[in-house]
Amino acid sequence: MKPLYDGKAKTLFPGPDPNTVIVFFKDTVTAGDGVKRDAIPGKGALAAQISCKLFELLHNAVPSHYIKQRDERSFLAKRVQIIPLEVVVRNVAAGSIVKRLGLTRGQVFDPPLLELFYKSDALHDPLICEAHALALRLATPHELSQIKDYALQANAILKEYFLGVGLKLIDMKFEFGKTPDGEILLADEISPDTMRLWDARTNESLDKDVFREDKGDLLTVYREVARRMGIL
Ligand code: UDP
Repeated sequence: MKPLYDGKAKTLFPGPDPNTVIVFFKDTVTAGDGVKRDAIPGKGALAAQISCKLFELLHNAVPSHYIKQRDERSFLAKRVQIIPLEVVVRNVAAGSIVKRLGLTRGQVFDPPLLELFYKSDALHDPLICEAHALALRLATPHELSQIKDYALQANAILKEYFLGVGLKLIDMKFEFGKTPDGEILLADEISPDTMRLWDARTNESLDKDVFREDKGDLLTVYREVARRMGIL
């Protein structure tokens, strides 16, 4: 089947009807703007299953593109036009913000901090403010307000859920899409590829930082997340 779009970690295929797509998870893992990359057999299936379970968990609170799981490495979703924004919500300082603002890794943000990045490969996804998003017409003021509400609501639900299985949700990246009738939906994926999770007791990373920073076996930690979520 000819893909609609082939990304770094996922491929989108046409779904059974024109309003749907199949989101297929690859075993590729990339970091540092795609500079560091590897193929880890089994990674795609774990990220897919974790993502499906998390979209199902959010189902009643945050409208999303997720329809249903198809098999162990793909799900069926509503076809949307992706809004070129990466919406990052941070509960604890880690990653890029530590360097950018000279913070201490592990510092808590209360309330959670929401940041916008402009999805542009040519510009390397720069951090932008709301005024920029509006000036670039990436979303209308109403859409932007919905996007922020959904992202913070999803963070609150996921944070509480993960704490219940012994994991701290440090930060995560959301993407949103628009349906042909203008509805804003949470889209893309929600997996340890796009969030930071630390063991609640030891603060050990159970996410893509293991790959970014060469600090262990990615498959082992993704399996551990899946196991705690009752998937494996
Ligand atoms: N993130 C992502 N895709 C990106 C950039 C970030 O999924 O292109 C996620 C990342 O996994 C982390 C959160 O967004 O959970 C915040 O990332 P950060 O800004 O700290 O950037 P990084 O340290 O990953 O470069």
